[in-house]
Amino acid sequence: MSVKNYIDKVLKSTVQSTPGQTEFYQAVEEVLTTLEPLLQAEPKYDNYNILERIVIPERQILFRVVWMDDQGKIQTNIGYRVQFNSAIGPYKGGLRFHPSVNLGIIKFLGFEQIFKNSLTGLAIGGAKGGSNFDPKGKSEGEIMRFCQSFMVELSKHIGETRDVPAGDIGVGGREIGFMFGEYKRLTGSFEGVLTGKGLNWGGSLARTEATGFGSVYFAENILNKAGDSLKGKTCTVSGSGNVALYTIQKLYDMGALPVTCSDSKGMIYDENGIDFKSLKSIKEIGRKDLSEYLKVHPKATYTPVHQYAEGTNAVWSVPCFAAFPSATQNELNLNDIQILYKNGCRLVNEGANMPSTPEAIDFMIAKKMFYGPAKAANAGGVATSQLEMSQNASMQKWSFAEVDDKLRGIMKNIFDLSYKTSKEFGDEGNLMLGANIAGFRKVADSMIDQGAV
Ligand code: NDP
Repeated sequence: MSVKNYIDKVLKSTVQSTPGQTEFYQAVEEVLTTLEPLLQAEPKYDNYNILERIVIPERQILFRVVWMDDQGKIQTNIGYRVQFNSAIGPYKGGLRFHPSVNLGIIKFLGFEQIFKNSLTGLAIGGAKGGSNFDPKGKSEGEIMRFCQSFMVELSKHIGETRDVPAGDIGVGGREIGFMFGEYKRLTGSFEGVLTGKGLNWGGSLARTEATGFGSVYFAENILNKAGDSLKGKTCTVSGSGNVALYTIQKLYDMGALPVTCSDSKGMIYDENGIDFKSLKSIKEIGRKDLSEYLKVHPKATYTPVHQYAEGTNAVWSVPCFAAFPSATQNELNLNDIQILYKNGCRLVNEGANMPSTPEAIDFMIAKKMFYGPAKAANAGGVATSQLEMSQNASMQKWSFAEVDDKLRGIMKNIFDLSYKTSKEFGDEGNLMLGANIAGFRKVADSMIDQGAV
């Protein structure tokens, strides 16, 4: 069978055996189709049935989460943990609490996580989890009761050498704290079972900033390779959560000017540059709507989502040199990238997971734009989570500068490996191809070493 037919066969059987998991197919198709040159060169992956095996999680756990709201009414949500692949280390990947969460979304995130974790060069397998619970508008007590109930089931499947979850959309330091407390109460064990912990109880300095900082370091590596840098460049950023916020902060450190941010209700354009302190206080500390930004900066403009031109995200209509999608999946489509390109944008660096649609990626590659794919560009968060695990295991505490230095080094290594691999397979500078092949090869070779498991 030709390599192309082999890939098609696995894609078809994935669709047939897991109906309705659209985002998951999108992620699988993106990875598998870029593996063609590797599979041509190395028939062993076909001989050992690696593609058939790698698209099926080692285990997926789906559970009921029941909790009581402030009115004394019983509420029910669905919890998930998909333990996708442990070939190179214990499972690792975040938990997402958002009403849109379903099994297909958790599987797409878990599948991506396998290759992202492999690219970091650290010994961590891929997993993801979460719930369709919506933390918005809930009291602190409701969030705590939900997190505790979620952990009652999750605690049976995790552990510091088994599976170490972290945060993602809707799960920050507060939620990690509630879940950690419950894990300790249930098991009697104080261990590094979650990352993103508070600094007083095992957390690592620079973990909060790591995904955003790492994303900017990755973009800087791309530009440095081409003899350029972020200095003096206007940048657009979507989102205003953990990743977006620290992307904005690091862009300033690099001498760039971030002029936009957004949330699920609208976007801000501030031509003088987004004010990091105000944004942090409104979104991270105050947990308020982004429109509040206008109260502090009345000259900025706010566009609510219902005023976005149909089929576009207004963030991408602002002229920039570099775009940093940092909110959610499929938030940058073909329309958006065409507008960005027309307005002079030459770099898209993905802070969010799978933020660009396949058509947008095809456009970027055809136009030879600089493109930092998510599994490489946003790997700084999980890499620093692993640094948190190392500090927990050795009972050490590293300084902010020490962790940040290691993060910078890891992002450079990820860039170098992705670039070198793109060159090895005849498409120099195609970092999507390089990252997918490099991430896959290490996991697939480990699966072969470990036999029929
Ligand atoms: P947060 O919950 O901190 O922030 C998410 C941001 O995106 C918020 O501004 C939110 O708006 C907005 N958003 C979420 N869903 C939607 C939607 N459907 N439409 C429009 N806006 C939306 O999450 P993170 O910053 O942690 O995560 C952002 C992205 O980065 C995700 O794709 C995540 O998987 C990825 N990522 C995160 C890592 C991490 O370490 N946190 C690591 C690697 C990747 P609102 O405030 O209105 O809810």
